[in-house]
Amino acid sequence: MLARSLHPAPKSPRFSIPGRLGLTAWLACALPCGSFAQEATRPEARNAIFFVGDGMGISTVTAARVFSVGVDGQLALDTMPFHALSRTASSDSITADSAATMSAMITGVSTNNGVISMGAESEPADFNMDGDGPPATTLFELAKAAGKRIGVVTTTRVTHATPAACYAHGNHRDAENDFALQALPTDASYNPALLGGLDLLAGGGRRQFLDASMTDEEGEAGRRSDGRDLRAEFQAANYEYVWNAEQWSALGVEQLPVLALFNSSHMEYEHDRALDLGGEPSLVELTLKAVELLEASADDNGWLLLVEAGRIDHAHHGGNAFRALRETEQLDRAVEAASAAVNLEETLVLVTADHSHGFVLAGYPLRPLEELPYKPRDWDEGFATGSARDRLLDVAYHLNARTGEVRAARDANGVPYTALLYASGPGSRTAARVDPREDKANGWFGAEPTGPRDPNYRQEAHVPLSSETHGGEDVSLYGVGAGSHRVRGTLSNTEIFQVMRRALGL
Ligand SMILES: [Zn+2]
Repeated sequence: MLARSLHPAPKSPRFSIPGRLGLTAWLACALPCGSFAQEATRPEARNAIFFVGDGMGISTVTAARVFSVGVDGQLALDTMPFHALSRTASSDSITADSAATMSAMITGVSTNNGVISMGAESEPADFNMDGDGPPATTLFELAKAAGKRIGVVTTTRVTHATPAACYAHGNHRDAENDFALQALPTDASYNPALLGGLDLLAGGGRRQFLDASMTDEEGEAGRRSDGRDLRAEFQAANYEYVWNAEQWSALGVEQLPVLALFNSSHMEYEHDRALDLGGEPSLVELTLKAVELLEASADDNGWLLLVEAGRIDHAHHGGNAFRALRETEQLDRAVEAASAAVNLEETLVLVTADHSHGFVLAGYPLRPLEELPYKPRDWDEGFATGSARDRLLDVAYHLNARTGEVRAARDANGVPYTALLYASGPGSRTAARVDPREDKANGWFGAEPTGPRDPNYRQEAHVPLSSETHGGEDVSLYGVGAGSHRVRGTLSNTEIFQVMRRALGL
C-alpha cells in the first residue's frame, strides 16, 4: 500500500504515442516530404549535383572549419539550409567501405562492402561461387533514360569505387579495368543502361585505360593486360579525350561527350597539385567546367552530376590530417562555387560523406591568443603567435586556471600531444611517445617533419596499421536548392537516393 501511494498511477505522458494509423497521419502532416514512397512524382528539380566527400566524417568537417575559416567561421557547408544525419552501415559491415556506401546512395539498395551497384545477394568477389544477383539500377541510369545529361567528376581514378558505382556494376571494387569497359559504348561489356553513354567522365586513372606495355602522357605505364588503348577507343566512340588542365579549361560544349584523365592513378592532392607535370585542374575548376558543359548541352530535361572529393579519404588512410583538411576545404569551395553558378530554383545540391574515419579532434586546445576573452598571466613561447589553424595542428595548449598560465598540455608521462589523432594507421609510433615538436618519426612519404604544423606530419595513431581505417558513425548530409527540404532527421544512406529520385521526378 505504502509503495503504491508513493508511486501513483502515471499521468498522461508528455508525448502521446499515436497508434499505427495515427502515426502515419502525423508523419504525413509533420513530414510532408519525409516519406520516400516509390511512386513517381512531378519533378521539382531539373538538375542535381551530388557532392561526396569521401571519408568526410563530422570530425573532419569541424576540423576543416577551424583549419580553413577559424573556430567561429562558416564553411559553405555550414550555410546550407537543410541537414540530416546519414547512417552508413552496409549490409555486411557495421563500418562500411566506399563501394557499399556509394552503391547505397546511388541505387537506393544496400549492399556488401566491396560490391559496386549490385544488391546484398552479391557476395564480394562471389566467394561462394554461386553467381551474382542482378545489377541495381543507378540514379545515373534513370537520369539518362529520362533524357538528362550525366557527368561523373572525381579526384580519384574514374574507375575507383565511388565514381564506378554511378555507371558500372560488379561484385568487387578492384575490377577497375573492367569498369572502364563498362563506360565504353563500343565495347561488348558496355553497360547498356547508360544508353548513349556518360556525357562527361573526368578524374584520374589513365592506367586503367592503357595496356602495361604503353606509357601515358606523363610517362607512366598502363595497368591493362589486353593490349588496348582505351583513350583511342573512346575517341573512336566519339568522345573528346583531354588529359591536362589547359585542355580542360578550353573545352566547349560542342566537344561533349568528354573523357578527361588527368593522372595515371588518382589526381594529385590539392597541396601537391602545383607539382604535377602536365597540370591538373582544382576540384573547383573541375566542378565549374562540368556544370558549364552539362548546362550548355542539356535540353529541358536537365542534367545530373557527381562530384567526388575522393582524396580526403586517402590522406586520412595515410594518417595525414593536413592533406585531408586541404581536400575538405577544396570540396567546400567547390560546393560554394557550384551553388552560385546554378539556378537553385531548379537545381538540387546535396553534399555528404560515404563514411567517416577514426579521426578525432580531442584534448582541449585553446583558441589563438588574440581570440581569448581573457589575458593569460603567462604563456609558452609556442603559443605566442599563430592562427586557429596553427592551434588546431600544433601541440595542444591548456590554461592552468589556478596560475593563469598557458602551457603545452602533457600526457601521464609529461609528454605534450596534439589535438588531432587517429585511432589507427601508419602514424602509430613504435617507440615511447615524444614531444610532437621533436618527433622525427613517420612523416608523409618518408619526409622528416619539423613538427605537428608541418604539412608532412603524421598525427599519432593508436593501433599500428599500414592504412588507417574508416569510422562507423553517422555522417552529415547537407542540402540546398530544389527538393532539398527532404534532407532532415536521420536517414539511411539508401534514402539519399530517394531524396534525389523524388526531387528529379525519376
Ligand atoms: Zn577509404
